[in-house]
Amino acid sequence: MRRAIAATIAAVTATGIGAGLVPAAHATTVTARTALHRTTVAVGQPTHASVTPNGTVTLSGSVRDATAGKPGVRRALHLELKTASGWVTRATGATNATGGYTLRVPTYWYGHHTWRVVAPATRTAAAGASSARAVTVTVPYKARGKASSHTFMQARVVRWNPCQVIPYRVNLNGGPAETMAVVKASFAKLTAATGIRFADKGTTSAIPFAAGKRGQLAAGITIAWTRVSTVSGLAGTAVGLGGSTWTTRPTAHYIDGGVALDKAFPLPKLSSTSSASVKKLRTNLIESVVLHELGHVMGLGHVNDRQQVMNPVDVDGWTTYGAGDLAGLARLGLDQGCL
Ligand SMILES: [Zn+2]
Repeated sequence: MRRAIAATIAAVTATGIGAGLVPAAHATTVTARTALHRTTVAVGQPTHASVTPNGTVTLSGSVRDATAGKPGVRRALHLELKTASGWVTRATGATNATGGYTLRVPTYWYGHHTWRVVAPATRTAAAGASSARAVTVTVPYKARGKASSHTFMQARVVRWNPCQVIPYRVNLNGGPAETMAVVKASFAKLTAATGIRFADKGTTSAIPFAAGKRGQLAAGITIAWTRVSTVSGLAGTAVGLGGSTWTTRPTAHYIDGGVALDKAFPLPKLSSTSSASVKKLRTNLIESVVLHELGHVMGLGHVNDRQQVMNPVDVDGWTTYGAGDLAGLARLGLDQGCL
C-alpha cells in the first residue's frame, strides 16, 4: 500500500513573512579590549560525557577576573552549543558569591554535541569563554538500517528554524480518538531526533491540502483527518499526505506544514471487548503514518530502504525512526544552527 504522496509545494514569498522570525538566541561575541579586565572561565572534567536522552550532565567550574586576580562573583553565564553556523546560547545561569557555577546541559536530543560556558562582558570586564566539552546523547534503541538512507524534499536542504518553538494543531474531525496521544508521542520523537521543540496549540478546523485552500494554514503544523472528497491527494491507496510550505526570505525555511490523514484508513475496529493487542495495533498503525508524514513536514523525502519510516510503503509499521531517518532529521535540526 502506498502510504503517502510527498507534497512539494512551490515557494511562497509573502511580504513581511520574514519580519517576525527573529532567532531566539544569539551567540555572544567574545572580544577582549585592553581597557577591560580579562575574564577566564574554567570548566571541570570530564571532557566527554555520554548519556541516554534526558540524562543528567552538568558543567561546573569557576570564573575569575584574571587582571585583578579575584573570583568573578555573580557573573552572568551563557551555556552555548556549537552549531554548523556558530555558537548558540541554549541555557543561562550565573556564578555564585565565590565565582563558582554549575550548569545543567540540555540532553533531550540525540547526537554528539559540543558545549562551552561563556561569561559575557560587563562594564569593567571583557567576556571570557571556557574550553569546549563534548556530550553525546545516545539513541536509546537499535536504529535500523544505514545512516545514509535518507533524502530531502527539496533539491537544497530546507529547514524549519530550529531555534523557534513550532506550534501544532490537530483537527480530529471524527477520526480515531487515539490520534491525540499518537501526535504527542510523534512530536516527542521528532524533538529527540532534531532538538526542535513543538508546542501543542490545541484543536483546529483547518484541513491541509484541501482544494482551493492552499496557503491558508496557521503558522506551524496542522494535522487533520479528512476524506478524498476534500483532499484529492488521498486518492488511490494513499492514507496520508504531508508537506510544508517554504519561503526563500530571508533564507530558505518552512513557514507552515500539514498532514492529511484519510478517514478511509483501514484500521481494526474497536469495541468494548477489544483486547490490548488490538488497541496497540491501531495505535501503531496510526503512528507509523503520522511519523512518516511528519518526516515530510520536517523536510525528509522518500527512500527505498524498507527499514526506514520514510519508505513510501507502509509494510512494517515502524513506530521509531531508523538510522537513515535519524541522520536526515539531524541535518534538519538544531545542530545545524538557527535560521
Ligand atoms: Zn511519503
